[in-house]
Amino acid sequence: MPSALTIDQVRSAIANRQTTATALAHEFYTRIRQEDSEIGAFLTLCEERALTQAARIDAMAAEGKPLPPLGGVPVAIKDVMVTSGVRTTAGSKILDNFIPPYDCTAVARLEAAGAVILGKLNCDEFAMGSSTENSAYGAVHNPRDKSRVPGGSSGGSAAAVAAQMAVATLGSDTGGSIRQPASFCGVVGLKPTYGRVSRYGLIAFASSLDHIGPFAKTVKEVALVLRTIAGRDPMDSTSAEVPVPDYVAELEKPVEGLKVGVAKEYFGSGLDPEVRAAVEAAIQKLAELGCEVVPVSLPHTEYAIPTYYIVATAEASSNLARFDGVRYGFRAKATNLSEMYRLSRDGGFGMEVKRRIMLGTYALSAGYYDAYYLKAQKVRTLLTRDFHEAFKKVDVIAAPTCPTVAFRLGEKVNDPLAMYLADIYTVTANLAGIPGISIPCGENHEKLPIGLQLFARQFDEATLLRVAHAYEQERSSLVVRR
Ligand code: GLN
Repeated sequence: MPSALTIDQVRSAIANRQTTATALAHEFYTRIRQEDSEIGAFLTLCEERALTQAARIDAMAAEGKPLPPLGGVPVAIKDVMVTSGVRTTAGSKILDNFIPPYDCTAVARLEAAGAVILGKLNCDEFAMGSSTENSAYGAVHNPRDKSRVPGGSSGGSAAAVAAQMAVATLGSDTGGSIRQPASFCGVVGLKPTYGRVSRYGLIAFASSLDHIGPFAKTVKEVALVLRTIAGRDPMDSTSAEVPVPDYVAELEKPVEGLKVGVAKEYFGSGLDPEVRAAVEAAIQKLAELGCEVVPVSLPHTEYAIPTYYIVATAEASSNLARFDGVRYGFRAKATNLSEMYRLSRDGGFGMEVKRRIMLGTYALSAGYYDAYYLKAQKVRTLLTRDFHEAFKKVDVIAAPTCPTVAFRLGEKVNDPLAMYLADIYTVTANLAGIPGISIPCGENHEKLPIGLQLFARQFDEATLLRVAHAYEQERSSLVVRR
């Protein structure tokens, strides 16, 4: 089946003229038309743009020119990244008719590296959620069990890879939105270091926490996509001037002697016993691969959820002020300006977005600012220090990605607090700005995937990917042997 292909396989099949980028793009669109009615991962297909790019790659192959690193690789993009001339909704009705005039840097870099962009992927509205049920365009179904959520907010990005409707995808992660859906759908998802990947053209949710990162079936493919999108961009002042290593070459370095931290704070109450067992077995595997397992302490972890939900909502309330019916998207009919603002925002935003705007506005308001926002920023510093201290002793930290496997559609949607609490293991990496990856490490008794999460020091994605790759190789050899 062509859609089970990896990036390397696609590239070599095109370079060796076994297929063409155009034929492959058509095959993926056929598959999307067959599969996606039951999954709901895609919001918009951009066939013209995809086929133009595919033709460009095929012309290169026909001339015998070397193909660029992602030459002809079918990818798809979470609909929070703007695409020139292609509708971009952020999963919101307020941007239903929004056609951006420019490309997000990460998208432009993928295309410059030869990738074929198939379309835009469903997500929670403005990336606010953990199940993709907050999309204004209907929920995404988990390809592994269609009665369950794919996770969120990048649920479409994880589901598209899991259902082999794209070889790789981009998502965004503000509090776990790449790693948690990767875990729920049984694929690999990476949130890089804050500043590693430009956010130019990412529709902002919470600017001090937002990251762009890749999804794919394997660690090596994630490394390849990261190498393509990472690095300083003059259009994003928060993108860092830090050299980008060749992540793919770094994968093969040995992991013997690396120190893997394990923090008891990530194995407390609320952790599903089957998830715990799978993650502990994965850590044992790392020890067998020659890593040294070292206990570490991250004592402020219990404050992560309240801290995150204050900082994230405060920043969201400010970022979302721009959606006023004047400049973008939906505008309600009204008799005067203030009514127009009110009706446009009331009709354009969904429930969860409104809840967050209200929470954030409250946290920032005079008289409450010190008690909530300022306090949250101080606790954020303590959480970041926990990681700095731990990384004096270890190279990576291993933890579960999520306390449970994918839950059922509808199960938590009416209980926002339960939904927020499920982000317990992922929000810390956003607050500290450190990189994190989720890789499959097993299944529960219902065959639902479980994710192992690894964290590393800021800008040390190379070590993170290396350990993840070593574990993945070991695990797939075990699966094959079985
Ligand atoms: N689930 C978290 C939230 O709802 C994280 C979302 C994200 O990372 N975009 O805020």
